[in-house]
Order: sequence, then C-alpha cells, then structure tokens
Amino acid sequence: MKNFLQKVLNFLLPPRCICCGKILDNENSLCPECFQRITFISEPYCSHCGIPFADIENINVKMLCPNCIKEKKHLFRMERSAIKYDAVSKKTILAFKFMDKTENAKIFAKWLKIAGKDIFTLGADVLIPVPLHYRRLIKRRYNQSALLTLELSKLTKIPADVFSLIKFKPTKPQVRFTGKARRKNVKGAFKIKTPERIKGKRVVLIDDVLTTGSTVRECAKVLLSAGAASVDVLTVARVYRS
Ligand SMILES: [Zn+2]
Ligand SMILES: [Zn+2]
Repeated sequence: MKNFLQKVLNFLLPPRCICCGKILDNENSLCPECFQRITFISEPYCSHCGIPFADIENINVKMLCPNCIKEKKHLFRMERSAIKYDAVSKKTILAFKFMDKTENAKIFAKWLKIAGKDIFTLGADVLIPVPLHYRRLIKRRYNQSALLTLELSKLTKIPADVFSLIKFKPTKPQVRFTGKARRKNVKGAFKIKTPERIKGKRVVLIDDVLTTGSTVRECAKVLLSAGAASVDVLTVARVYRS
C-alpha cells in the first residue's frame, strides 16, 4: 500500500533534483550531473576538524591537519560536514534557508548521518541546533538548523533539544563580516535556558553551513560552561580551500 501511495505521489509531485530542479525518475535527491558537481567530503580528512586532505591516499591512520596540531586546547571534540560549500552547493543551501525548500531537510539529514559517523561511533547524547533570534525566526518562519536536527534525530534515535540553547541577542548577518568582526558580532549572543538539561551531556551542534566557525564556537562556549561533557559540530556544508 505504501508503495502504491508513493507511486501516486511521485506521479502528482515527481521528485526533483534539489540542486537544479530537474525531474528525477527515481528517489535520488540529485540528478547525475549535480551529483557529479557537488563535492561530498570523504576520507582522508583531519580526524579532529574533518577538513579533507588533498593529494593524500587513504592510509587508514588518524591524522591531524596543521591547524589542529597547532591548537593546544580544542573547544570541540570533533567537526564534520557532508559537502563542500561552493557555487554549486550554495544554491541548494540558500533555497533551503530562504525559499521554503523545507522538504530538503530529510535529504540533508541523511547526509548528516553519514558525515557524522565518527561522532555517533564515539557516542552522543543530544542534538542541538544553532538557534535563531526570535525576531529572525518570525521573519523566516522556521529555523533551518532545527529542521535538520529533528530529521537527524529521527534517523539516529538521538534525542533533539531545540529549546535549551537560545539566541537572546539579535546580531547582524555574519556574511557582512570577516574574521575578527564575525567573532565580535556573535559574542555573548547565546545562552542556555535550562542548564540542568545540558549538564554532563555529549552535545552535537547542528547547522547548515560552517564558515569561519565563530557562531558554533560561541555556542560551544555557553554549552561547556553550562556543564556539557563535550561539543561536536555537524553541518551540511562547509567552507574550505582545496
Ligand atoms: Zn540537478
Ligand atoms: Zn584539523
């Protein structure tokens, strides 16, 4: 029965490529051309921050990138992302963020589950989205990161908590700034409403795009000071040079 309904639904609303919109003849979320053009992040990558290593064969050894070797104290336990944020993936992400393509959350959640395998193997207790300030939430009507978190929670059976971490200070969009100004823009913008729900938990922070990491860093600081045991970062896309 479910198959029949799916067939009827596919006839009425055929699945489309989430990148270019072309009608697909199967349940894949990307057409073959877009699948070729999107860069899925795969091993070998830095075992801490997840940045892929170019020109290195997969030798099955845990390696760190130069930045993670330099960094003495790590704020995050691990960082992982599913795809590279570039001109191709940007279109898909922006449509999800601003154009009500909320059904894409299901597809992205599948990618997050694969990208986060190292995190889930180590163990995680709760998935928490990077929050929006309520004024922006009213304007946009949904928090794309919360949608991702709820879908990922269904797939992984790890509980989601979309209430404990809040953004209480409105900030300007991070895209307007670079480096230091980005850090300053989000400084002190987040707080934990219910620390008792965070204490001792291994938290996975979920977001759509990881750019410089200023926002997730600020979130991680408040989570850790509320007693979180560890914080991981898991995002759909990530900016990096290759
Ligand atoms: Zn396509
Ligand atoms: Zn690294």
